[in-house]
Amino acid sequence: MDTNLPFSDKPRVVIVGCGFGGLQLAKDLANAPVQVVVVDRNNYHNFQPLLYQVATGALEADSIAYPVRKIFAGQRNFLFRLADVTGVESATNTLHTSVGEIRYDYLVLATGSLTNFFGIESIERNAMQIKSIPNALNLRSFIFQNFEKALLTADAAERQALMNIVVVGGGPTGVEISGSLAEMRKHVLPKDYPELDLGKMQIFLVEAGPALLGPMSPASQADAGRYLHELGVQVQLNTSVKRFEDSKAYYSDTEFIPTENLIWAAGVNGATLPGLPDAVVTRNKRVTVNQWNQVEGLANVFAIGDVANLVTDEMPKGMPMLAPVAQQQASVLAKNLVRLTKGEAPQPFEYTNKGVMAIVARNKAVVDLPKGVHFNGFFGWLTWLFVHLMTLVGFRNKVVAFVDWAFSYFSSDQALRLIIRPFKRRDMRDDQGKRTAEHLTATAEYNPGPPAIQEA
Ligand SMILES: Cc1cc2nc3c(=O)[nH]c(=O)nc-3n(C[C@H](O)[C@H](O)[C@H](O)COP(=O)(O)OP(=O)(O)OC[C@H]3O[C@@H](n4cnc5c(N)ncnc54)[C@H](O)[C@@H]3O)c2cc1C
Repeated sequence: MDTNLPFSDKPRVVIVGCGFGGLQLAKDLANAPVQVVVVDRNNYHNFQPLLYQVATGALEADSIAYPVRKIFAGQRNFLFRLADVTGVESATNTLHTSVGEIRYDYLVLATGSLTNFFGIESIERNAMQIKSIPNALNLRSFIFQNFEKALLTADAAERQALMNIVVVGGGPTGVEISGSLAEMRKHVLPKDYPELDLGKMQIFLVEAGPALLGPMSPASQADAGRYLHELGVQVQLNTSVKRFEDSKAYYSDTEFIPTENLIWAAGVNGATLPGLPDAVVTRNKRVTVNQWNQVEGLANVFAIGDVANLVTDEMPKGMPMLAPVAQQQASVLAKNLVRLTKGEAPQPFEYTNKGVMAIVARNKAVVDLPKGVHFNGFFGWLTWLFVHLMTLVGFRNKVVAFVDWAFSYFSSDQALRLIIRPFKRRDMRDDQGKRTAEHLTATAEYNPGPPAIQEA
């Protein structure tokens, strides 16, 4: 198949991925003397930091996504192809995609990351993940479906497993979703399910390391732990979930939490592409780049954002997988690409940390700014809301999010709890759009198994 890209006498920059990095790069190249071709498997930009709010019914999916073509309407050097990129052939400057081959002069990988299940097959098959909008909608449906089932069973142990939720991973995503679920337990579920004893519903946050919010300050870690404790989330540090099957999240061969709902937020890998030299792909599938975000050994191939492994003296483990890193790398790369087209030397990338934050619940958030500045509580929460509202793409999305948040704040309610497309585990898709269970066992269809469940 031909991708029908028009000929241009200007160099063609192909960007794979229209997430935070790809979007910023394509925008910054608006007036550059290049043809910009963006390829993404989705026709929308996904604002991942708010995915957990879609999963817990606080925001509509449409308010955190924005159509790529609408973002770039009017940008004359911009072209978009909706396609899955399946490989890179650097010897011929060719990208292989689901809609045909695309030739490039410069290639930029901005493919982000994928959930890392650490090779634990039972977790990959049965856990819920939160990396995409379909993931978030599935999670929302699944929780409400299980509450509907909990009403129907006469078996107390089975009911307990249907109501319990285990979140694995104590980073910002795990903390944020646990807090949000605790608020749902307090304000939303009792209204919808007065027949169930919500006092019995347990929310666990399980973290393998010694602290929550690993990269944040000790003050933020302590505040987050205290907030979650106040909300009734059972935080278990230095604990790993080793497998998840038969409605049990196992810590060891014999110890487990009975649950149908396991949310895996324990790590990600870079979303690398086939065809790159093995030597540049790290153990966690990030692509090694130099200080210009150029892929080692490939002069016209670059990587930015989560997929890029840029190691510096300050960041010996590579840059953090954060939206501002992707955006800042994109902006520097845009200037460097223009320099390269003019035969000038590129400038190195330097990360400016403007601060990190995490929200736990209403009036409860933690913020770390540079130079050791830390604040929390209501002011932290307002800061979090403001920053996220301002960075959401599109005016309509900002308004819809603001209205949804204001409604939830004043009514202590969340309007979005429709089970529009009932979720079965065999429908689960990974971020590559594949049905994750298809290549697993023939019995992958969701089946909670016999109700031999231990009270937690
Ligand atoms: C739940 C969650 C919460 C987060 N919260 C925060 C936060 O609060 N603050 C923060 O700074 N960061 C947060 N992050 C991390 C942040 O979202 C990422 O660091 C950021 O999205 C990285 O940007 P990127 O451009 O590298 O990739 P992404 O934004 O992930 O974009 C990658 C794009 O590439 C496309 N793509 C990938 N592979 C292919 C392919 N083969 N073919 C075609 N298209 C492809 C994808 O569809 C996607 O559009 C969060 C992430 C998650 C999952």
